[in-house]
Amino acid sequence: MKFATKAIHAGQHPDETTGAVVPPIYQTSTYIQITPTENKGYHYARGENPTRAALEENLAALENGKHGLCFGSGMAAVDAVLKLLKPGDEVIATHDLYGGTYRLFMQVYKDFGIKFHYVNLTEPKNIEAYLNSNTKLVWLETPTNPLLNIIDIKAVADIVKGRRNILLTVDNTFATPYLQTPLDLGADIVMHSVTKYLGGHSDVIMGALVVSDSELHKKLAFIQNSCGAVPGPMDCFLVLRGIKTLHLRMDRHCKNAEAVAKYLDNHPKVLHVYYPGLMTHHGHTTAFKQMRNFGGMVSFELKGDSVEEAVQVMKRFKIFALAVSLGGVESLSAHPATMTHASIPKEERLKAGMKDSLIRLSVGVEDIEDLLEDLKQAIG
Ligand code: PLP
Repeated sequence: MKFATKAIHAGQHPDETTGAVVPPIYQTSTYIQITPTENKGYHYARGENPTRAALEENLAALENGKHGLCFGSGMAAVDAVLKLLKPGDEVIATHDLYGGTYRLFMQVYKDFGIKFHYVNLTEPKNIEAYLNSNTKLVWLETPTNPLLNIIDIKAVADIVKGRRNILLTVDNTFATPYLQTPLDLGADIVMHSVTKYLGGHSDVIMGALVVSDSELHKKLAFIQNSCGAVPGPMDCFLVLRGIKTLHLRMDRHCKNAEAVAKYLDNHPKVLHVYYPGLMTHHGHTTAFKQMRNFGGMVSFELKGDSVEEAVQVMKRFKIFALAVSLGGVESLSAHPATMTHASIPKEERLKAGMKDSLIRLSVGVEDIEDLLEDLKQAIG
């Protein structure tokens, strides 16, 4: 099955009782049993819920994996992966990554005796200096948040797979499975903030993992049930509904973002545009190779590097609403230094190339003429 057909049909089996085409919202915490040791496949909704099961099957199909697991947030999904580790283990992560992921690593798991290395993996060979017998996890974001750096997933997988027991996880939130399928490129785990493009309508907080290895699935499902950070059935229903239009939305996000990136690139007041679809982007060739299009996120800096001017521009936006999050149908703007990435120390942010004047745009699916007009009036 091809992508759009899977988005609409995978995991969506008509309800056996009524024939309902759309999987019902099974708003129940428990299930009646036949005997104390027999049930119909469901016994308690922290462990299993049919609406969640439909979504998990759908996500697995979209990512070309075998098993999906949904969590109460993207961070809960990251947390579940980290719980595979033990004190003394080491993690290598991209040096430019979502601030919340960095915070979980440094302010929670570092205290549990796990060591983190942040490496510029736009050059995959850089990983070699940090690999050792304690390395248990490599954490990639690509495109990265907020600098839209591109990491060659297959090149990193080829280096890492020579070593035993190293799990390669890719946070695929920015690309979505419509644009990039990391399991096909050698990753072991795909992670999503489902809150973003998969949900697509800024009305749900959710996370997900997709894997193909059944042993790994068993371990993660144990963590999912034991720790209990599961989403409710109503949220699963909303995401299933959102995913049915993922391909349509992504096509428009990509088209609009490309037009926005080109507009900004030609703007006399703009110093630099970060968008992997631009030929001048340092990761363009890799993005072209591993992605099917370049996504809906664009970041940029104004000439003069003035934080005040960047803030003024964001205050003048009429359509690009100033808000954290991304991937919804509506356009949003954000100031990573004080919003999404504030928990990363300034010197670390600057080392990764993230200036205080950086503006991040989540380009929505509105009419492009209106979006360009908004940029024009806000930047001047
Ligand atoms: N990963 C990325 C790339 C994100 O942008 C975010 C949230 O912004 C997360 C993970 C965390 O997801 P959530 O906010 O759903 O917990």
